[in-house]
Amino acid sequence: MTPRRVSVVGGGIIGLSVAWECLRRGHDVTVYDPDPGSGASHVAAGMLAPVGESYFGEHELTELLLESARRWPAYAAELAAASGRDLGHRTEGTLQVGLTADDLAALRRLWTHQRELGAPVVSLDSEQLREREPLLHPRARGVLVESDHQVDPRRVVAALRALVPVRPVAVASLAGLDDGADIVVLAAGCASAELAGLPVRPVQGTILHLRGPAVLRHVIRGYADGRAVYLVPRADGEVLVGATVEERADGHATAGGVRDLLRAATDLVPELGEHALVEVSTGHRPGTADNGPIVGELDGAAPPRLLVATGHYRHGVLAAPYTAHAVAELVDGRALPLLWAPFTPQRLSAGGAR
Ligand SMILES: Cc1cc2nc3c(=O)[nH]c(=O)nc-3n(C[C@H](O)[C@H](O)[C@H](O)COP(=O)(O)OP(=O)(O)OC[C@H]3O[C@@H](n4cnc5c(N)ncnc54)[C@H](O)[C@@H]3O)c2cc1C
Repeated sequence: MTPRRVSVVGGGIIGLSVAWECLRRGHDVTVYDPDPGSGASHVAAGMLAPVGESYFGEHELTELLLESARRWPAYAAELAAASGRDLGHRTEGTLQVGLTADDLAALRRLWTHQRELGAPVVSLDSEQLREREPLLHPRARGVLVESDHQVDPRRVVAALRALVPVRPVAVASLAGLDDGADIVVLAAGCASAELAGLPVRPVQGTILHLRGPAVLRHVIRGYADGRAVYLVPRADGEVLVGATVEERADGHATAGGVRDLLRAATDLVPELGEHALVEVSTGHRPGTADNGPIVGELDGAAPPRLLVATGHYRHGVLAAPYTAHAVAELVDGRALPLLWAPFTPQRLSAGGAR
């Protein structure tokens, strides 16, 4: 395999993980980003939750995310060893819970769907639920998904940055990036729209950080009287409460959004009312029309070859290791792995749109 000169535009979790994989395979890699790790990757909760994220009609996406989740334990171990950093990888699993009869009716439909996909969704009676999380509201009912894990994306980005050279430069246009690279990988999250005309739109999300004693072990997600919410506990006692999903891009957290998140969180775990609210973060998920990522080669580009890895919407942390593998296969001159076939840029072009 001939070593290639690879330029990666964008140093979020996707660009950095692609860059590290290419470096590991012996390529010469430069990442361009004026503020690496400052995009959606700085805001993400870091749930590695292909089961919790499997929705009706997204079978191909679920398959892709399940494979990425399978790769995470080895990836986390390799990245932690190479960088000497702790990634906050936790494997206690996820509780999917609801409070009211309506919450549970909605969840039961989802659990049936998840089980049909072969997901390990284990019913817990209320005693078993409280053995796992004693501070859950006594009315909460739910299931355990042991295979849905979490990682701290800020720690992952810091680990990757320790291994990958980044030039702190914004790329104004791909045509103007005349640095002698054989291959350019566009991984600029939402900015991929203006840089290559890709159909990626910003889907705004606000997430809260609460700090207090370490009272939770599992990721908890579900509904509290109709309000969707997830709680992601870090080992140091911080609990992330997420997240709003808004079709706007002004970057402002709204009072109503914060109120709804806090209300749902404290309804599910009343003890969280005593925690300090230490951070309110808002970011932009790179969304696509079918919620799937865009990974592959852009047709008709003049040399250098132009590859793209963007549009990861709610799944960029989960999908990072497998995205890095898929792009590195292309850089090595091999074909895109089969599970990625439904997610090439060609599906979104006029002829290939689904
Ligand atoms: C509230 C919230 C919660 C989330 N929770 C989860 C979760 O639990 N699990 C999960 O898997 N995913 C989650 N996500 C989604 C995840 O954050 C994204 O899918 C992922 O971060 C996308 O990574 P990225 O590298 O493509 O984009 P980004 O992280 O946005 O990075 C893009 C980078 O490109 C750079 N850039 C932009 N323009 C240029 C330019 N012209 N030149 C050079 N560089 C440029 C930016 O500076 C930035 O660093 C969440 C997102 C949000 C908003």
